[in-house]
Amino acid sequence: MSRDLLTVVVAAFNEADALPALHPRIAAAFDALDGVDGRVLYVDDGSRDGTWAVLQGIANGDARVSLLRLSRNFGKEAALTAGLDRVAEGAALILDADGQDPPELIPQFVAKWREGFDDVHGTRTGREGEGWLRRFTAYGFYRVMGRLSKTPIPTDTGDFRLLSPRALAALRQLRERHRFMKGLFGWIGFEQASIPYQREARVAGRSKFNLWRLWNFALEGVTSFSTAPLRLATYLGVATALVAFAYGLWIVVKALLWGDRVAGWPTMMAVILFLGGVQLVALGMIGEYLGRLYEESKQRPLYLVDRWHPAAGDSSRTGPSVEERSHAYRASAVGGEGA
Ligand code: UDP
Ligand code: MG
Repeated sequence: MSRDLLTVVVAAFNEADALPALHPRIAAAFDALDGVDGRVLYVDDGSRDGTWAVLQGIANGDARVSLLRLSRNFGKEAALTAGLDRVAEGAALILDADGQDPPELIPQFVAKWREGFDDVHGTRTGREGEGWLRRFTAYGFYRVMGRLSKTPIPTDTGDFRLLSPRALAALRQLRERHRFMKGLFGWIGFEQASIPYQREARVAGRSKFNLWRLWNFALEGVTSFSTAPLRLATYLGVATALVAFAYGLWIVVKALLWGDRVAGWPTMMAVILFLGGVQLVALGMIGEYLGRLYEESKQRPLYLVDRWHPAAGDSSRTGPSVEERSHAYRASAVGGEGA
């Protein structure tokens, strides 16, 4: 019987301090697997701190490790996409480089996969080492998203998940540029299972997501998976028009009954300012969507590859990535592929 293959995909941006601690934990988790061969694919998302050298060291000591380096920092979502595109066979499991998603849980994920689930995701029961503001905003974000989006997005669930080969194939068909991964995972559907876990503190380094970046991330999520804000503009408009109509009627009636004594400058200013504000907000919302439409229309590749080192014993298993096939795009023409 042929053995199943599992590739752990790790996106790393300036994680030179965290990676040496992470790899042995993944390797140990692989030893606990039964009937499944483990591989690791590290994606260096344009790090500037020696992450690449650390990764090369890891790959030299372990023939199951593949390395991919992007031409610059494209962001976590693009880096994960680049990694998943290179998993030619078997299932994939996404893990953060900083040890916040414990690799010790890998056997549990695999067990669920073997039971027949296509998307096994870790659901956080607690968050260690993160401030109250971060926890509060994360809590609010998942609840608001759940309300706004028609696609089911599991609450308190990050990118820590295992995708079966067919879920992976489905995900690869989604080539949109603004990639809100949590939503994309939900969109593909299939059988889902969740594994509760305690999110640990980072082993080293700092989070790359400050509040501003998180806000932009949330905006990405809302605009990628909901058009509710656009409709909000319509409702605001209708409500304002109704109020204005009632008020207009009242002014006419008042003038007829008591005559017009040219008063009401404050009311006028208030109405003008209010309407101006509503219109600007509505324009801004349209702008958010329009801007994203513009980005999509450019049809740029999602990332560019600088270097690709397939695992030593394994090169037959990893062909050209989906990106290269679907865009007839050659990394070698840009950065030079291979060692
Ligand atoms: N990451 C990345 N590219 C980026 C930012 C982050 O590949 O531009 C990786 C990072 O190295 C880590 C994971 O994404 O493995 C999660 O990042 P981080 O721990 O900073 O986010 P948090 O856990 O605070 O949400
Ligand atoms: Mg983290």
